[in-house]
Amino acid sequence: MSCNSCSTKTVGLAEYASPNALTWCPGCGNFGIQVALKQALVAQGVTPHQAMLCFDVGCNGNGSDKIDGYRFHGLHGRILPVAAGIACANKKLTVVAEAGDGATFGEGVNHFVHAVRGNFDITFLCHNNENYGLTKGQASATTREDVAMNSNPDGVTSTPIHPQRLALSLGATFSARIFSGDIAGMNRVFQAAIAHKGFAFVEILQNCPTYNKHTPHEWYQQRVYNINETDHDTSNRAAAVAAAEDINEKVATGILYQDPNSVPFMMRDAVRKDLGAELIDEVKTYDITPYTSRMR
Ligand code: SF4
Ligand code: MG
Repeated sequence: MSCNSCSTKTVGLAEYASPNALTWCPGCGNFGIQVALKQALVAQGVTPHQAMLCFDVGCNGNGSDKIDGYRFHGLHGRILPVAAGIACANKKLTVVAEAGDGATFGEGVNHFVHAVRGNFDITFLCHNNENYGLTKGQASATTREDVAMNSNPDGVTSTPIHPQRLALSLGATFSARIFSGDIAGMNRVFQAAIAHKGFAFVEILQNCPTYNKHTPHEWYQQRVYNINETDHDTSNRAAAVAAAEDINEKVATGILYQDPNSVPFMMRDAVRKDLGAELIDEVKTYDITPYTSRMR
């Protein structure tokens, strides 16, 4: 298999291997997610030096030094603007950002809103385990109502954010949902997300055996199904919204919506549309004396 810009190089899973030991709790969904991500990058012919892997703070972020390649570990809730900037500066890179539900729909919800609207060319893997796992099981914006968490022993009283409803209402050009226990499904969806032109939102229903006791691995196993094996039309936004709604009984997973005509942010810019150069090719030294001299 050849990589996406060097014509002959073959990429294998071993190239993404790291000597650092994994530190997640036994049974954590993060193990399978990282395996599936490596598989998808390899299957897409992306070598580690062509991938920019961006991590938020959280249990998922603790995987940032457990995979090889270019990596950036950002501040809590702030990884999307970093990833968007990288994608704008160098379109040759495959940019993947990872963050949890706490970072995405709590501290960083404003960034999520604008990343979706901007349609930046990023694959965004959102680990939704319905709690802040790294800081010991506090309720997040996606924790279900009435569920008792360490921060809310009498039960959560706020209405949870429904990630798919939010993303699709903002005009997401790619919105998918997949279960962390389904490695083959994650591989398939991640590949489609990487190949998508624009912001590809992948919500991963991640089990957290340590702190999320209300939707464990078996709970999802009994409820998820692959909507891409039905007659679901992935180009129909209204059908996607309807299919995504149920998160309690029959939980649809797979690609819920994809705009086949998606145009990413940088290609929408009339100034840059027909330019072959990347922003990084245009970095040069500017004389700013005329501007600073006014300040004396
Ligand atoms: Fe995984 Fe939960 Fe442990 Fe974090 S706290 S490593 S999400 S099982
Ligand atoms: Mg979380």
